[in-house]
This record gives sequence, C-alpha cells and structure tokens, in this order.
Amino acid sequence: GYGVTVPTLKLLDGRDIPTIALGTWLGNNTQGRVEPVGTEVEQAVKWAIDAGYRHIDTAFAYKIEDQVGRAVNAKIGGELKREDLFITTKLWNDAHALDAVVPALRESLRRLNLDYVDLYLIHWPVGQFSNLTYDYTDYVDTWKGMIEAKKQGLAKSIGVSNFNRQQIDRLIENGLETPAVLQVEINLNLQQPELLSYCKEKNIIVMGYTPFGSIFPSKAKSDAPPPRVDEPALVEIARKYEKTVPQVVLRYLVDIGVVPIPKSLTKSRIEQNVDIFDFSLTQQDRDLLKTYDKGYRTIPQLKWQSHPCYPFEKN
Ligand code: NDP
Repeated sequence: GYGVTVPTLKLLDGRDIPTIALGTWLGNNTQGRVEPVGTEVEQAVKWAIDAGYRHIDTAFAYKIEDQVGRAVNAKIGGELKREDLFITTKLWNDAHALDAVVPALRESLRRLNLDYVDLYLIHWPVGQFSNLTYDYTDYVDTWKGMIEAKKQGLAKSIGVSNFNRQQIDRLIENGLETPAVLQVEINLNLQQPELLSYCKEKNIIVMGYTPFGSIFPSKAKSDAPPPRVDEPALVEIARKYEKTVPQVVLRYLVDIGVVPIPKSLTKSRIEQNVDIFDFSLTQQDRDLLKTYDKGYRTIPQLKWQSHPCYPFEKN
C-alpha cells in the first residue's frame, strides 16, 4: 500500500499543496564531507513516498537534488504518477539576477531529472556571489525572474523563503503576483503568530522549516528555551493519544495552518512523522503548546546581517 493519506491545502493559484513535506537538508555538518555523497537521501525519499509523503522539500544549495530526482523517478511511472507528487526546490543566493533565475532552475531540473517542479522558492532575499561578496540585486527583480520561470512552465507555483512581511509587501506594491508560499522557520519556540495571520490575510501558505526546533537535546544550543522532548507536559499529551512528542509537535503545526518540513534519514522516524492525521489535539493541548513560543530563532544567519536585505531582527 501507499501508507498514510496526507490532506492538502489550496494555494492562491488554485493548485493543491500536501500539508507535510519531507526535508532533505543534511545540515552544515555532513560528517566532514565537503560534498554529500552516497544514497542516503535517495533512500529516505523512497521510504517517505512509501509511507505516504507526497511532498519533498529540497534546494540547489543542499547538493542532493540528484538523489531526490533518482528516488522520485524510481517511484513514478506505475500506479504513482508525477502529478501525484509535489516537488519543491529553491533558487540559491548566487543567481539573483533577473536573467539568472530561469537558467538556475533549468540546472536544478537537470539535477532532479524532472521537466518541472511544483514549487520554486527564492531561498533567501540576500544575494551573494559564489566568491562570497554581496550581490545587491533587488529581490523584486529576482521575483520577476521567478514569474518568468512560471510562465515557461518550469515551476507550477512560485514563492519565497526567509522573506519578512515588508519584503513580501514590496513585491505586491510593485504590481507583481503574490507569492503562493512563504517558507520560514516555525517550531514551538518560534511560532510567529503575526506573520501567520498576515499570510492568512494574503492567502499565502506557510511552510515551516526546522519544525522540531530545539526539542532534541543533541540539536539544542545551550541558550535554547524549553521544552525538550522529555518535558513531562508533552510526554503526557503524547501518551494520551498513543503518539510520540515529535508527532504531537507536527500535528500542532498543521493545526495552526503550517506545512511542516520534518527531515529524517531514519526509516522509522520518516514513517512516524507522517502518521499524524488519525488523532486531534484539544484546545487545551494547543493552549499549552502555544506557551512555548519565545520568539527564539535557531537559524538567524547572522553572517548576513550587514546585507541590506537581511530579513530578521538584528542583534
Ligand atoms: P528538523 O527540525 O526537521 O530536525 C531534523 C533532525 O531531527 C534530524 O537530526 C533528525 O534525525 C531528527 N528527527 C526527525 N524526526 C525525528 C523523530 N521522530 N524522533 C527523533 N528525532 C527525529 O530540522 P531541519 O533543520 O533539517 O529542517 C527541516 C527541513 O526544512 C530541512 O531538511 C530543509 O528541507 C528545510 N529547511 C529550509 C531552510 C530554508 O532556509 N528555507 C532552512 C532550514 C531547513 P535523523 O535524520 O537522524 O533521523
């Protein structure tokens, strides 16, 4: 069988987006390897599709689009069709010039061995050439390149990642189409209620990256607020539904309207993370989970603070 059935949300362009995606970023520490090698992501994507995931989140910068493509192409053609899957990838910071967007997407498609992606996102509003000097291209021009990519049918839907509200407003004020998706960090410690209500008002679907935030002690920095995965109040909620704490967290994010992007390379966790649609949290559970929102960001990308398009609060 094909595992769990994942519900969808409607994008403002009329297309459907599955409400959970598999993440494929291996992190900055790829066990000392400069370039990810091997087949671990390919295997994870295959397990994910078998478990019921229909949405895969990747990016040119993750350097594993080839693995995602091999898994997707191995799974489609029989009962499962290309149009049953939703593939998201992202434009890297070194291709922000208007005329660089379509060629960058073509390169991603070549690596993915696909004719189109379902969603193409500007990864960051910050431009930076490959020699690490800043590119001051206006992201409004980059967005025009994204619109051209959509017009050419290379991306069915287009959106942005790591943009703040003012930056999205500027795209709209320039008379350009509204991004269908905003992908930003969302987890228990960074719930971003104002940004979510802004996006709801504009009909923008929010994808939430790093959905587990700091709940795993192995990933939590020393200044990260609670909770951890063994927090008694969370363990109690999970026990009530015979679910795990990570499942409770993901279900909460779906409940607040977010498409979470849990990453795992572990078969049992991949299966566990998508198995969140056969129970529901009570208002009381959600009220408790809301109290963990501390405005704490795990990926502030402070190294780009001096760029005029840096999107987050500076420190
Ligand atoms: P996540 O919050 O998804 O955490 C991933 C970690 O959690 C891995 O170490 C994984 O381990 C572990 N894990 C996953 N599920 C479980 C579970 N059920 N129980 C215990 N441990 C678990 O972090 P990411 O930062 O990877 O974010 C997710 C995705 O979001 C990325 O992969 C990427 O696709 C996207 N992203 C986008 C960004 C952007 O700028 N747009 C920035 C950052 C992320 P293991 O793999 O060993 O199983």
